[in-house]
Amino acid sequence: MDEALNDLLQDLAVANRILVNEGVLDGFGHISVRHPQHPDRFFIARSMAPGLVTAADLLQVDLDGVVHDEQGRRTYVERFIHSAIYAARPDVHSVVHSHSPSIIPFGVTGARLRPICHMSGFLGAVTPVYEIRHSAGESTDLLISSQALGRSLAQVLGSASVALMRGHGSVTAGQSIKQSVFRAIYTEKTARLQMEAMRLGEINFLTDGEAQATSAMNDTHLQRPWEMWKRQALRNWD
Ligand code: MN
Repeated sequence: MDEALNDLLQDLAVANRILVNEGVLDGFGHISVRHPQHPDRFFIARSMAPGLVTAADLLQVDLDGVVHDEQGRRTYVERFIHSAIYAARPDVHSVVHSHSPSIIPFGVTGARLRPICHMSGFLGAVTPVYEIRHSAGESTDLLISSQALGRSLAQVLGSASVALMRGHGSVTAGQSIKQSVFRAIYTEKTARLQMEAMRLGEINFLTDGEAQATSAMNDTHLQRPWEMWKRQALRNWD
């Protein structure tokens, strides 16, 4: 395996641990990265708790959600979140799906998650909310367990960075592992801040222009928090 790919897979393993350490993933949820040489494939861990993932646990899945693994291992039921978003969004190279707790209230009420500070400009004007009942009726287990459901989620995500999933969690799209990790962490932080601010009064959110400008600025600083999150995550495990 070439060195760049090896480094990418190490980063994906580390990203799993960072997202657990930062309270985005727990025993559930996943992060993937698109294959740099084969854009119709992505890497994701085998079906296991994200906090325990190493590079040896990563396998390949295609954009229909079919697993390609010589060892015959299985991955997550909800791999279709990733396959459908990569199929719909050529600009996306990393996807996080989490059940991070603070975003749940925004998926089940009329309150919409919006950029409240300069660290959450990537949310854009309004964060879309996916309602699985519109695609699959009122008796599902809420999981994105088929490519068709993945497509309906990707459609609601549209060109946004983040979509909430009603009564379930959220999905975060990025151009790199470091960007999707940054966005997933700050989506959770933003939700917490917005709930606090809503108790005090009417919120003065970023304008569209401020959201775009702050997001562009933060994209030039992804390495700085990554190094810290990585050190802290690895210290807590090894
Ligand atoms: Mn889920």
